[in-house]
Amino acid sequence: MPRIDADLKLDFKDVLLRPKRSSLRSRAEVDLECTFTFRNSKQTYSGIPIIVANMDTVGTFEMAAVMSQHSMFTAIHKHYALDEWKLFAANHPECLPHVAVSSGSGKSDLEKMSSILEAVPQVKFICLDVANGYSEHFVEFVKLAGNVVTGEMVEELILSGADIIKVGVGPGSVCTTRTKTGVGYPQLSAVIECADSAHGLKGHIISDGGCTCPGDVAKAFGAGADFVMLGGMFSGHTECAGEVIEKNGQKLKLFYGMSSETAMKKHAGGVAEYRASEGKTVEVPYKGDVENTILDILGGLRSTCTYVGAAKLKELSRRATFIRVTQQHNTVFS
Ligand code: 5GP
Repeated sequence: MPRIDADLKLDFKDVLLRPKRSSLRSRAEVDLECTFTFRNSKQTYSGIPIIVANMDTVGTFEMAAVMSQHSMFTAIHKHYALDEWKLFAANHPECLPHVAVSSGSGKSDLEKMSSILEAVPQVKFICLDVANGYSEHFVEFVKLAGNVVTGEMVEELILSGADIIKVGVGPGSVCTTRTKTGVGYPQLSAVIECADSAHGLKGHIISDGGCTCPGDVAKAFGAGADFVMLGGMFSGHTECAGEVIEKNGQKLKLFYGMSSETAMKKHAGGVAEYRASEGKTVEVPYKGDVENTILDILGGLRSTCTYVGAAKLKELSRRATFIRVTQQHNTVFS
């Protein structure tokens, strides 16, 4: 007989963070930089743990050039050629500590990734979108692997060599997994449960997908995420791939899922290596330079930390108490 798990599972929209007494006087006192030592590779990393998703449109070299100025991280999408990587490395050596090279689990993907890592040895991170036992080969690199939503899979991936596990099935802004397959897990609960499993093994997690505003990013960190990966929130900017489109006097940019029809057509022949689920293609308003969005997110996060009394972002989850709510914000003028 099918089993029904009746435990309550929540999304970002179902909760708010409870303010707490705080001795912090100003947002400027909050330190968002974190230092990590990874369990398997033993490498360390310092930065603000927000990651641009390895999607065609947002995971670009142009994005990485801006992100790294803020010590933020970019998972570069897997469609750049080796020569493009070499050029980027020559022009922007300062970015290399803050980027990952991405790969699926297909042979040609892995071969290309190996050649990039050989040509650009300053890159220390690899982002594997489909995790497998082959990871032994890359043990000196920090590996981001996923995606999963349950504690036992987090443990399995960490024990098989991954350092950081991507958590999220179905929450993404251009993801149709939940409607196509009926599979998913509310993101806040997934993060709380997976963080607990990972941290028990000294592993780390990324909350991947589902953040719609800076408050959601704060909730993901509050829930225990070590890193938060964002796609949609970084879409539509100058640094994103693609041209600005004009329609009815409005400026727009294309944003699409990694397994959308747009992505499949663009990278014909690569279809089998994508995640099985499908994705959407949307036109999002053109938002100008990503710098403004970065400052908006970081300003929001600093403010969250002052509300709950966390002097450092790393302390946020220890200071976090979530309250269940029926309404997020006042919508009278929206
Ligand atoms: P967002 O921040 O836009 O809500 O979510 C970004 C995440 O959505 C990505 O990091 C990736 O895990 C996921 N994603 C991107 N494209 C697709 C897709 O086409 N299908 C599915 N199922 N997930 C996607």
